[in-house]
Amino acid sequence: MPTTVDAAVTHRGALDLSVEPLVLRDPGARDVVVEIDATAFCYSDWIAVAGGTGLPELDLYPVVLGHSAVGRVVSAGSSARHREGQRVLITATPECGECFWCTNGRIDQCEGLFVPAPVIGALEDGREVRAPGSSATYAELSVIRDIQVFPVESDLPDTWLAMFGCGIISGMGAVVNVGRIEPGSSVVVVGCGQEGLWMVQAARALGARTIVAVEPLAARRELALRLGATDAVDPSGLDEAELRDAVIGLLDGRGADYGFDAGGSIASVQQAFAFTRLGGVVTMTTYVRRDSTVDLPLFDLALRGRDVRSSQSGRLDMRRDLAQFLPWLESGAVDAEALLGEVRPLALANEALAASRDRTELTPILLP
Ligand SMILES: [Zn+2]
Ligand SMILES: [Zn+2]
Repeated sequence: MPTTVDAAVTHRGALDLSVEPLVLRDPGARDVVVEIDATAFCYSDWIAVAGGTGLPELDLYPVVLGHSAVGRVVSAGSSARHREGQRVLITATPECGECFWCTNGRIDQCEGLFVPAPVIGALEDGREVRAPGSSATYAELSVIRDIQVFPVESDLPDTWLAMFGCGIISGMGAVVNVGRIEPGSSVVVVGCGQEGLWMVQAARALGARTIVAVEPLAARRELALRLGATDAVDPSGLDEAELRDAVIGLLDGRGADYGFDAGGSIASVQQAFAFTRLGGVVTMTTYVRRDSTVDLPLFDLALRGRDVRSSQSGRLDMRRDLAQFLPWLESGAVDAEALLGEVRPLALANEALAASRDRTELTPILLP
């Protein structure tokens, strides 16, 4: 018998979410059905609602969004890796374990990533609904590939674990796995939304000496300082040269050993590059749209020794990263509570969307 659940559906051209019944498709042999206990609302989902990502494989409305959650397996396909009752995390990035990338240490590029959005079910009028990112966590239950579901053993609250599959892994992974900063080093983080604040915290946990946060919102600058930033710069009203002077003035006039971009704009990418010293390492996470391009000064890029690194989901390896990051959360070395927004039922999904869109909360949580 088909299972009908409540889901937050995004219709083409609508700037909101519509909570309505979704008839789930039957799981395949390698799928699991997961009851979603908590899911983190991600700013990238607002981008998808607002006009698309430029990723044609994701642009197939109506859709159910959501890609970072904690839940429990309620049924598993005949050859799925997970068993009923298992507590699991759902991540934005899969790990098939078999493709070239997974077997060559680059799980972040698994062949299962950026595939055409699969059908997750149908509306009551019969229209098919798809799941960009293959996860569809803004729903009471979801049918998910077993490669995107990871067992977790932890007493941490659902609200914290809900952030693991995107914000935590992307932000802390960028610092730990990609930038690989060293104790005593200097760091600049451009943009202090949820991802940037996880970067700040990871940098502090790894013993960075100087952490400069660049962020226009006063509340987020204050939080960055509380969570480990040594300095915070408000870019508002400064031209490019003034901002660069203000930032590198805090970094011995040279710039940071490690620069991180979490600003979500072309300008933030350029700033992270400009604020990093010669011979430093710049880690980028912003893509804006598939067809976006960025201008960087070629002389500096070619001859001034900066390494530019790409950070897709923090170059994750979930088993390694769970073993590394869960103890940080458990011990309080990083503060998850500080990054939580309000916790709401799925029926209030539009409030979560508005809080993310308007940047009034860092990580709104839905409890489907
Ligand atoms: Zn996300
Ligand atoms: Zn793979």
